[in-house]
Amino acid sequence: METIQKTEHFDVLIVGAGLSGIGAGYHLQQKCPGKSYVILEGRDCIGGTWDLFRYPGIRSDSDMFTLGYSFKPWTDPKAIADGPSILKYVRETATENGIDKKIRFRHRVKRASWSTQDARWTIEAERGTGEGAADVVRFTCNFLFSCSGYYRYTDGYTPEFAGRDDFKGQIIHPQKWPDKLDYAGKRVVVIGSGATAVTLVPAMAETAGHVTMLQRSPTYVVARPEQDQLAISLRKRLGDKLAYHIIRWRNVLLGLFFFQFARRRPARFKKMVLGGVRLALGPDYDLANFNPSYNPWDQRLCLVPDGDLFRSIKQKRASVVTAEIDRFTERGIRLKDGSELEADIIITATGLVLQLLGGMEAVVDGRSVDFAKTMNYKGMMYSDVPNLASAFGYTNASWTLKCDLTCEYVCRLINYMDRHGYKQCMPHNIDPSIEQLPALDFSSGYVQRALPMLPKQGSKRPWRLFQNYAIDIVTLRFGKVDDGVMKYS
Ligand SMILES: Cc1cc2nc3c(=O)[nH]c(=O)nc-3n(C[C@H](O)[C@H](O)[C@H](O)COP(=O)(O)OP(=O)(O)OC[C@H]3O[C@@H](n4cnc5c(N)ncnc54)[C@H](O)[C@@H]3O)c2cc1C
Repeated sequence: METIQKTEHFDVLIVGAGLSGIGAGYHLQQKCPGKSYVILEGRDCIGGTWDLFRYPGIRSDSDMFTLGYSFKPWTDPKAIADGPSILKYVRETATENGIDKKIRFRHRVKRASWSTQDARWTIEAERGTGEGAADVVRFTCNFLFSCSGYYRYTDGYTPEFAGRDDFKGQIIHPQKWPDKLDYAGKRVVVIGSGATAVTLVPAMAETAGHVTMLQRSPTYVVARPEQDQLAISLRKRLGDKLAYHIIRWRNVLLGLFFFQFARRRPARFKKMVLGGVRLALGPDYDLANFNPSYNPWDQRLCLVPDGDLFRSIKQKRASVVTAEIDRFTERGIRLKDGSELEADIIITATGLVLQLLGGMEAVVDGRSVDFAKTMNYKGMMYSDVPNLASAFGYTNASWTLKCDLTCEYVCRLINYMDRHGYKQCMPHNIDPSIEQLPALDFSSGYVQRALPMLPKQGSKRPWRLFQNYAIDIVTLRFGKVDDGVMKYS
């Protein structure tokens, strides 16, 4: 691997050109117009998640009025939108604002080292030169903004299945969907019950022979209209911008209300969700397949647009089996109760591998940072790590709500430092009464697997993650950036 010696300097370096990185570029241009910035993107295109995932039916599982940016109205009639429309929206945002010109593609950031003496990060990125070869390219920056998403791009998560090699059909992970997969008329088993599984099942059931969703345990599934009729009619009367903001706020408030309702009255909420399933699937359907043992919002709820999953079950094009896998066999999957599910294709919708900061190593003054030993500050920075922020979304609401606020806050921080002549900002805890808690209180497998490597949250502000947009607006948009915890120098 060859190292290129010339080092370029930027005020801000953004890692990742997905939904967050493009949003970060926009906010920087608007609020810190004097600052130079670059976006390093490991892949060769804009869009991140919305380009990577290509499985049938790929769509959002939250509404686009809150998954869209605060500054660019979502105008497509679909409120729960398909992946290509979301990708188009992100790319449009980039080109409309000239953000695409700031991106260096095929630059995978591997290492970032901070020097307190120079008040700079030095970034090392592998630049793909084709056919697997790569150069190492260096950049320096004053502020590093990681918009690298939250999961590993190379491979998703697949548990060890005994007998996997015995299966004679195809095994596919949704993160690596083949360009051409002919499943018309075939028997498909989708392992999993998360957002990906509930999306794939009705989409594949349109042409497959039969699709079975095989789940170890059920998930709460809620039907929502794909199109928001109020949004469509408000848009006609009030125009795109005003209608967008009204619907965005309505959805934020409804989301907050239903989340609080679910947490405070889990039994009633559960009854309501199961009532919806009963209505969709009729009196004879065994509700056990949609009746989780955990409380609503201990894991993410799954949305199905216009109840498409229920419709394909009702039409008998798809079915749900709740059982544990014993092993794969030549013809399919043997379950622990001894029965066998025959399949031509098995889809392992078994999840993602969480990854922090796009897998890059961070070093501060020669010492490698162990992020598991840090505390998360306001859900975006890390204790004792200077001039580094990362964009993360909510677990109970759309990603972009928090991401927009994070970008605004980073801009306020940069402007504050400029006004006072500071070069470094670093959150540092001096309150011994703050207890360290797990980063997320989700019982989902992918979260539990990742908790040991994730930063902790603290028991009090500003280290506590409230997962609440209303609280975050107060703290991040209006709260003081000099809060006594952030140390400036
Ligand atoms: C299938 C699926 C559906 C989803 N649906 C929803 C939804 O409906 N609502 C919701 O709120 N959230 C949803 N999410 C979460 C979703 O990831 C976010 O909404 C959003 O797309 C995240 O954007 P991002 O830019 O932060 O990350 P990503 O989309 O993951 O983009 C990160 C970018 O950073 C690049 N990158 C990563 N590491 C490096 C590195 N070291 N060097 C250089 N570049 C790097 C990647 O190549 C990528 O382009 C979904 C996720 C998945 C997987």
